[in-house]
Amino acid sequence: MTIETRSSRSDAPGAGGNTATTPLATTSTIDTKNLERWGWYSIGVSLFLTILNLMVATASGSAAAQAEMVHNLTDGLASVAVLLGLKVSNHRSPAFPYGLYKAENVVAVVLGGLILFTAYDVAHDALTGQVLAATVNGWMLAGVALSMVVPVLFSSFEMKAGKAANSPSLIAQAKEYRTHVVTSGMVLVVLAAQRLTLPLDLIAALVIVVAFGKTGLELLVDGLRVLLDASIEDEVLEQIQDLIKAEPTVAHIRWIATRNAGRCRFVDMCVALRVHELDLAEEAVHRIESRIREAVPHVERVLVQANPMTHTHVRYGVPLEDAGGTISLHFGDAPFFALTTIRQDDGTVAEQHVAANTCLENERGKGLRVAEWLVDQKIDAVILRATLRGSGPYYCFAYSGIKMLKTEALTLQKALEHARLGKLDEELIAPPARGQASPYLPSWRLPMTGTAKNHGN
Ligand SMILES: [Zn+2]
Repeated sequence: MTIETRSSRSDAPGAGGNTATTPLATTSTIDTKNLERWGWYSIGVSLFLTILNLMVATASGSAAAQAEMVHNLTDGLASVAVLLGLKVSNHRSPAFPYGLYKAENVVAVVLGGLILFTAYDVAHDALTGQVLAATVNGWMLAGVALSMVVPVLFSSFEMKAGKAANSPSLIAQAKEYRTHVVTSGMVLVVLAAQRLTLPLDLIAALVIVVAFGKTGLELLVDGLRVLLDASIEDEVLEQIQDLIKAEPTVAHIRWIATRNAGRCRFVDMCVALRVHELDLAEEAVHRIESRIREAVPHVERVLVQANPMTHTHVRYGVPLEDAGGTISLHFGDAPFFALTTIRQDDGTVAEQHVAANTCLENERGKGLRVAEWLVDQKIDAVILRATLRGSGPYYCFAYSGIKMLKTEALTLQKALEHARLGKLDEELIAPPARGQASPYLPSWRLPMTGTAKNHGN
């Protein structure tokens, strides 16, 4: 049995979009309209700064002011590219089934390249050209100060919008605007220090080159990483893995592959489930999906391939009366638990461990606590002398796909031997009817929401 589900925030053709996730698609469209607005603002800001610097450069004859004018003109062209990138990334086409989100990363890479080229150009001019004597007066200084403050203010707003939407092109542009503190700042210093006959113009140009070079390289490297499908950030990947492992029916993660594309994250995985019934497995898959979507922002698609675990090893949990291996008649009140992993082909014990029951002091619900602890120990079956039918632990094990094996043996060794030879009867489990909530909900985990709730409709 293999279950494969894929869900998408948007109802792209061919992608199995479902009702629970449709509202998010609407939100995403509104977001994009908002983002495009920032593209337009940026074009306006660049145009204003270009004209301002053109005026200062023409009047003063300063090479640094001229370089800053060219820089702002380049920024204007980059703003047009950012706007186009945002428009393209929102476009849906059957020819691009994975979406056009990476258009934004392409723009970020081009932006990085442009900045590097400008850096080269400025360096070339500064090193080969003559440093012009400049005339300076008050309005020029005010103009340069303005061309320093405006992009920095704009940058902080754009960065906020870009981070909220996880948009790489807006974040790239906001980072670029930040370098204007240095670039326009140096023009200001040069003009203010005009009366001193120091070759500050040359130094200013070289500082601009360094500031450009750093930002340009960063954007280039980040953009290329995404284009080459690098995995998402380590801490987010770890968070996703923890969410998957917290699902009680998951025996282990077979593989997980993640990537960014523009402002979206894609998560693909294959998990081994302990449950065999199609309904239960499907529900587990939906729970994994909805939990990842709830906890991790900007997830465009979660693809879960689930198949039953292969039984090369079986891990048993057995309540014990003593550490010596006498099986207890009780479950929640048993003082010890044996955790034993057995190799299926030859019956050898791969791992054995006897743990004291730490839930004994609990006044109420100790049976359920113990059951949940055993689920976390990733056991496949419990071996019991008395039935748990109808109790909290019974539903906890049923929900988690853990078998309850009945034994009449008195010792652990005997019971394990019978278990391996298939001599033990299994407690039959009546799964909850499709669409009905399970009688057991893990107390320490998130309530089922989103896809899981809508699943039975
Ligand atoms: Zn710039």
